[in-house]
Amino acid sequence: MTSFENLGLSQELLRALADLGFEKPSAIQEQAIPQLIDNYRDFIGLAQTGTGKTAAFGLPLLEKIDPEDKSTQALILAPTRELGQQIAEQLSLFSKYMPRVNVLSVYGGANISTQIKDLRKPQQVIIATPGRLLDLIQRKAIKLHEIKMLVLDEADEMLNMGFKEDLDQILSHTPDEKITWLFSATMPKEIKKIVNTYMYQPIEVK
Ligand code: ADP
Repeated sequence: MTSFENLGLSQELLRALADLGFEKPSAIQEQAIPQLIDNYRDFIGLAQTGTGKTAAFGLPLLEKIDPEDKSTQALILAPTRELGQQIAEQLSLFSKYMPRVNVLSVYGGANISTQIKDLRKPQQVIIATPGRLLDLIQRKAIKLHEIKMLVLDEADEMLNMGFKEDLDQILSHTPDEKITWLFSATMPKEIKKIVNTYMYQPIEVK
């Protein structure tokens, strides 16, 4: 039986998983986590919601954050405020024993001044909905030039909700050298276009 111990995770993350009662990795976690920890490469995960996607990308992402570096190193884009908050909650629980790693979520429909204030503090991991993120970029409240990892969660949903142009604009503010991890339940033409435009020789896991 594969356990989280076999997947290459640090003691800090293993302790947090034990506290949460996670005993056995789900299929997508078992396939994705070792690949994402070991490789510095673009990645496509084809997975439905409820399969444990958040831990599949969140654990390796936290593993790759440098706690000494206060810049924003990872950006996770999600289609809705609810999903963004869920991801932030899970990442905060996973990073419970990583006290110098800060996780912040920003989303539409909430007070932007509070978010701007929060963004003045070091936030190594930011989870955002596309519209609000673009607004924050335009107000120069957020800096993405040091991003090393970009996650597009529920990419098909983001396109269905009409975020294609926002995505293009957001991506133009991120460095070319970053790695991109894309998760989607389906692979329509529009997602393939994003893959072909923004990703380089991605590993694919179903
Ligand atoms: P998805 O992102 O695929 O929609 P989540 O990652 O949010 O799904 O996972 C769904 C629920 O299952 C969450 O409450 C999460 O905490 C829990 N979960 C995820 N992976 C495991 C696991 N390996 N063991 C136990 N619970 C898990």
